Amino acid sequence: MNKVKVGVIGIGHLGRLHAQLYKEVPQAQLIGIYDSNREKAKQQGNELNVPVFQELDQLLREVDAVNIVTPTSTHKDVARAALEFNCHLFIEKPIMETVGDAEEIIRMAREKEKILQIGHIERFNPAMLALTDVDIKPVFIESHRLAPFNPRGTDVAVILDLMIHDLDIIQMLVKSKVIQIDAHGVGVISKTVDIANARLRFENGCIANITASRISAKKMRKMRIFQSNAYISLDFVSGISEIYYSADWQNHPFQDGTLAVSLGQIDVGNVKKEIKYNKLKREGVNPLVYELTAFMESINANLPPVVTGENGMEALRLAKQIEEKIEQSSNLIQEQFKS
Ligand code: NAD
Repeated sequence: MNKVKVGVIGIGHLGRLHAQLYKEVPQAQLIGIYDSNREKAKQQGNELNVPVFQELDQLLREVDAVNIVTPTSTHKDVARAALEFNCHLFIEKPIMETVGDAEEIIRMAREKEKILQIGHIERFNPAMLALTDVDIKPVFIESHRLAPFNPRGTDVAVILDLMIHDLDIIQMLVKSKVIQIDAHGVGVISKTVDIANARLRFENGCIANITASRISAKKMRKMRIFQSNAYISLDFVSGISEIYYSADWQNHPFQDGTLAVSLGQIDVGNVKKEIKYNKLKREGVNPLVYELTAFMESINANLPPVVTGENGMEALRLAKQIEEKIEQSSNLIQEQFKS
């Protein structure tokens, strides 16, 4: 097994976890960390027992790959510097501040033949992984991502902070173009939008109704997927997925005899339908360890990563379109208040 020499750039709330958990990834050799806040880097280096680099270039010279876990406004400059030193890149979500910047870095990574993975970690949530063999063909999706208020992340609207996780998952599942967006949102506590709702219509007819809030009393991260013969409910907090399905669903995932519980029969007109239920969870998965392992495997096998730069850019593009719609609807409301 080839060990990939890796460095972590930005050792704040999330970067610390990246550095800590790389120790659990056998394919990785953590060479060191770098943070523009030298005091913080020194303290984290001591706590984690990891070498600290005083200059970014010094770290980039020593590694094959880096994780960029700095504020989004700095992703572009750090990514460009790392590519100049021929490093593979893992960039935390959202990929960049603008779609144009994302395009530029994706192009640069492609030219340098470097792996570029984006940190949409919900792809590695046990609730999502448990559905790997399920034939998901959504017709309607309802999702709620609600969090109590935390000033961290409020420099950007809740769409880029939280909703973007669901936008990435929904685009991956629906696999169709968004043709209509209705969206509304409001900043209740911070200066940016704290709660937002978007209703997306896809070319294939699917509708997704997405709510994200960071002013909720309780935490909730649920996605409910409705399709012909099945209702699938993902809970990203507990990491559990539940499936309710009609026994006549041809493509149900339990063909191998995995036990599903019968909930009995219901009358649908003059036909009786048997409804079955199953609870699915991928055991023993730490999403961040899984995500970092996938990055290492992608580098070693020279295969596209699970979450590509293009995936990160499409989630960002949609998030920006939703933000634009929200701005238009708030302008309209302000106009009405004035008149
Ligand atoms: P943070 O503010 O806690 O940490 C950022 C760190 O980067 C700080 O230590 C800061 O000193 C350092 N830094 C700033 N500019 C730098 C530069 N140019 N070079 C090197 N270091 C620099 O932020 P955070 O909450 O850890 O978020 C970091 C990134 O991770 C953001 O892009 C954020 O959107 C993303 N994030 C993703 C998730 C997720 O679920 N995947 C969750 C939280 C944050």
